Amino acid sequence: MGVYNRAPLEVDRGRGARLWSTDGTEYLDMVSGISTNALGHANPVLVQAIKDQAEKLWHVSNIYRIPGQEQLADMLCEHSFADRVFFANSGTEAVECALKTARRYHWANGAPERIDIYGFDGSFHGRTYGAINAAANPAYVEGFGPKMEGFHQLLWGDREALEAALTNPTTCAIVLEPVQGEGGCRVTSDEDLRWMRQMADENGVLIIFDEVQCGMGRTGKLWAHEWAGVSPDIMAIAKALGGGFPIGACLATEKAASGMVAGVHGTTFGGNPLAMAVGLAAFGELVKPELIQNVNEIAAYLKQQLAGLQDRFPDVIVDVRGKGLLIGVKLVPNNRDFMALARDDQQLLVAGGGDNCCRILPPLNLTLDEAREAIRRFEGACETAREQMKAVA
Ligand SMILES: *Cc1c(COP(=O)(O)O)cnc(C)c1O
Repeated sequence: MGVYNRAPLEVDRGRGARLWSTDGTEYLDMVSGISTNALGHANPVLVQAIKDQAEKLWHVSNIYRIPGQEQLADMLCEHSFADRVFFANSGTEAVECALKTARRYHWANGAPERIDIYGFDGSFHGRTYGAINAAANPAYVEGFGPKMEGFHQLLWGDREALEAALTNPTTCAIVLEPVQGEGGCRVTSDEDLRWMRQMADENGVLIIFDEVQCGMGRTGKLWAHEWAGVSPDIMAIAKALGGGFPIGACLATEKAASGMVAGVHGTTFGGNPLAMAVGLAAFGELVKPELIQNVNEIAAYLKQQLAGLQDRFPDVIVDVRGKGLLIGVKLVPNNRDFMALARDDQQLLVAGGGDNCCRILPPLNLTLDEAREAIRRFEGACETAREQMKAVA
């Protein structure tokens, strides 16, 4: 189906932060499969894990116990607020499970009237019905039938509206990305997150964090919400969890998961042995303190350098935002044009984003040399963009 607006780049192979097209051109990849190949392309640890498991067992369905699934769930719980995990195959499925878990919690705990779920403008939760209704980006809901009951939107940063939502007796949950991804890398302040947590606790409302993009070390902590020192009741994760292999997961506290009993939810593929083998290898790398430290060091370098470029190219760069290696650069020229220019002129791949941003989402194990190279190429793209704008003017 013609649902993608694809770049004219036919990919062939990758290694680390490099990607080669079928015509042999080498690119520096600051997209990482949209924040997914967090350990770089063809990471040897992941390649070995998938090879070993491929010869052993791929899939059995969730009729049987899957030791790798139990191990990865244990690991996720050990490294998070969670006590319970459900495995899916994508971010949007993890979000669906999170939304269902929240409603089911209230239903099972004597408050079936609590069905209202509040999302925020500029957020992205995936493309299934629950996810598009939670985020309510008009471009993603239009033409897809009636709005689902019980889903509402708040303006990001509108504390008064949020307070009304949190104190509404039929509220089930609020759902947000602590650091927005697709929407343009807006960061909810630590103070706001702490206030939300307190208000939610006082009013019996659940908090769902969507860390599909900002989790797994991307912001310089394993989970983005750690910066604020608060934890959610339920969290959706995916993208980097499998290092490029499709895995999603919904994490929850024992209490929040109390309505999710045998038979009420499920999946055929989710948590299959092949995915779990890769997930165990990937997550084992993602939790390493050296990797998280690298994220913070590289992020500090990129932030400083991009600030310098913003000073030198105020006619190209409006703002640099985000957290860790989830970086949004708000541009003067159209972001799609700039991405094409970076790609064709500098062989630098960057991702798009809302609010006319381009996103820089390198693998988390990017080296300082690669980061320097990324900046040189970004600078080159800024120069060309400036020349082009001058030519037009
Ligand atoms: C990518 C993304 C999703 C959806 O994940 P899919 O695997 O594409 O379904 C959900 N939430 C956030 C924050 C994302 O970045």
